[in-house]
Amino acid sequence: MGLFTRFVAKIKGESTASALDWDELSQELLAADLGPKLTDQVILEAKKIKGDQAEESLRQILSKHLSTKSRELAQPGTPAVILVVGVNGVGKTTSVAKLAHHLKAQSHSLVIGAADTFRAAAVDQLSTWGERIGVPVVTGKSEGEPAAVAFDTVKRGLEEKADFVLIDTAGRLHTKNDLMAELGKIKRVIEKSASVAEVLLVIDGTTGQNGLIQAKLFASAVDVTGLIVTKLDGSARGGVALAIEDELDLPIKFIATGEGIDDFALFDAERYLDGLISG
Ligand code: GDP
Ligand code: MG
Repeated sequence: MGLFTRFVAKIKGESTASALDWDELSQELLAADLGPKLTDQVILEAKKIKGDQAEESLRQILSKHLSTKSRELAQPGTPAVILVVGVNGVGKTTSVAKLAHHLKAQSHSLVIGAADTFRAAAVDQLSTWGERIGVPVVTGKSEGEPAAVAFDTVKRGLEEKADFVLIDTAGRLHTKNDLMAELGKIKRVIEKSASVAEVLLVIDGTTGQNGLIQAKLFASAVDVTGLIVTKLDGSARGGVALAIEDELDLPIKFIATGEGIDDFALFDAERYLDGLISG
């Protein structure tokens, strides 16, 4: 059942819903991680809905909060470089492996760069994934320069005429200045030999409003082109994608729904809205 299914059923055939219905809907939206701001906005707009047009009107209301920017991934280049950024533990490294697997399944050639040099485990993690999915992983010295790994990865991508280069980065978020300095440096070094086609920001879908605040800081520090929302497996928080797009005005390009390599898919906004409204 969709987040709004019960609500739609309630107001269908009636011109207005009672105060009790609105209160109940509001609780449901908050529980589904829509966040207080968006919940209030949606309720306010939904109060104007006529019962006989409930689904259609609701769809219009909700879609206004989705980003209108393109959800398509950058076209393969020579190579198209994709930087993957985000705070610690959100699923960046796993998402890099999943995205690589996804692109490889479409017959694209690619190279991965393990530029999170701060954690040896992150490099091992990515190397293991690389072996499993058959994609080369460029690593650097432990605690070496992330930008140097990025540079080497792009070089390898150019040599191999790869379609894509995916670069995993560290998730430290001390201050915005540190972050900008480090990611700025990685970007500049890449741009000596290739342009950055995408910066994908990874957000943990289970962290709700808190994760959103961190993501906002990240998005203000780097030119993010799209989002990957992770850990949407087994969660009842159906509203989080809408809250994220409303807050950041950035398109979700992929969602991750588990720890397995195939638990990853393109975000289909139309289907997402269908799911919210009719389940
Ligand atoms: P990073 O620090 O951002 O690189 O995060 P990792 O990729 O290392 O992931 C942190 C943890 O989250 C690991 O245990 C992953 O297996 C797990 N994880 C990543 N994506 C998902 C997901 O979509 N669903 C679930 N349930 N776990 C995930
Ligand atoms: Mg990592």
